[in-house]
Amino acid sequence: MALIVQKFGGTSVGTTERIKHVARRIARWKALGHDIVVVPSAMSGETNRLIALAREISASPDPRELDVIASTGEQVTIGLLTMALQEEGLKARSYTGAQVQVLTDSIFTKARILRIDDRKIRKSLAEGCIVVVAGFQGADSDGNITTLGRGGSDTSAVALAAALKADECQIYTDVDGIYTTDPRVVAEARKLDTITFEEMLEMSSLGSKVLQIRSVEFAGKYKVKLRVLSSFQDDEGEGTLITIEDTEKMEEPIISGIAFNRDEAKLTVVGVPDLPGTAYGILGPVAEANIDVDMIIQNAGRDGTADFSFTVNRADFTRATRILESIANQMKARGVIGDNKICKVSVVGVGMRSHPGVASLMFSALASENINIRMISTSEIKISVVVEEKYLELAVRVLHKAFGLEQAD
Ligand code: ADP
Ligand code: ASP
Ligand code: MG
Repeated sequence: MALIVQKFGGTSVGTTERIKHVARRIARWKALGHDIVVVPSAMSGETNRLIALAREISASPDPRELDVIASTGEQVTIGLLTMALQEEGLKARSYTGAQVQVLTDSIFTKARILRIDDRKIRKSLAEGCIVVVAGFQGADSDGNITTLGRGGSDTSAVALAAALKADECQIYTDVDGIYTTDPRVVAEARKLDTITFEEMLEMSSLGSKVLQIRSVEFAGKYKVKLRVLSSFQDDEGEGTLITIEDTEKMEEPIISGIAFNRDEAKLTVVGVPDLPGTAYGILGPVAEANIDVDMIIQNAGRDGTADFSFTVNRADFTRATRILESIANQMKARGVIGDNKICKVSVVGVGMRSHPGVASLMFSALASENINIRMISTSEIKISVVVEEKYLELAVRVLHKAFGLEQAD
């Protein structure tokens, strides 16, 4: 008998029919004798709807109140799913994050989990219940409701699995595992049986929203056995296992996957005096405004000035532009140029460490389709490029082919 945490994403609980279907799947696992903790997300589209309602009232909603609203989607699904399990003749009990208690810090809308009290869950499990815990939410030490950032139910599930020392954490979604790239963009994408934590961390941080990055961090830190599976197939199969050790394959692929992110924007301060302190002078105020900066490039010109470019999340584009415009005046720069029609495409793979030539293959593949590279950044196991957004899908497809990632026939 094992203790298993099963998370069901928004589309998996998108209708009452789907919720009944999920309840039947859980019943099958329970019948095998396992203890089950279930973590549902809100019904698909619900969190967006709730946030949009808040924005109809206020253009910049109070984050504490936004969390009060956004967290309710999961309160609905824990109740519905628990009832559906009871209709299957099973004992089941729901808990909100605050009831459990999932203790978080007080950073509303992107709170971090500090501690999970497992007593109520263990008591209900001992009574033979399936325990249904709301994803995405917790409470701070003052009892304020908090949420964990978009996609945060993945993190709730992994954190619960870590706290309960579960044998496995299963993330059920609308695809049957992790693919070489988003199968909705490249039909030939291939399902991976395993992927290393390191690679999954990069894939998530570079835009693959199939797992929230914090859930991968948690799983790596607490050695949680993490698996991604489909809730839509009758037989869920083995899905994709996120492995802690690099699996010692004889022929390790150089590239495991391609990630992309559409939510990018680029800003350039043109003609700033090329002096010590320039980078700090530009990025200091941006950091103070809590805007995350990703890629950074500085081109020194010949006339004692430099162009300073960086990328931010597209949601922060307008705010960042305003900040730069005021700095540009003070710094006697020539101006500020912004572009929010860009995206980032990245190739990821631990095999890259021992294989030179990945960058040149990537650049030649993009050149063959006349795709202009606007920025480049590299690390040991990834290369990212910024390209115009209109080339995103073409770039992903051409790279997928160039690195031989398609389905084997
Ligand atoms: P859920 O609602 O279950 O949390 P998400 O929409 O957050 O589901 O994540 C699943 C989606 O992630 C898939 O439908 C797929 O389009 C997308 N995705 C992006 N990259 C990948 C990838 N490499 N492998 C599988 N799915 C991916
Ligand atoms: N319902 C939340 C969201 O839409 C959390 C999740 O789905 O994981 O972001
Ligand atoms: Mg998700």
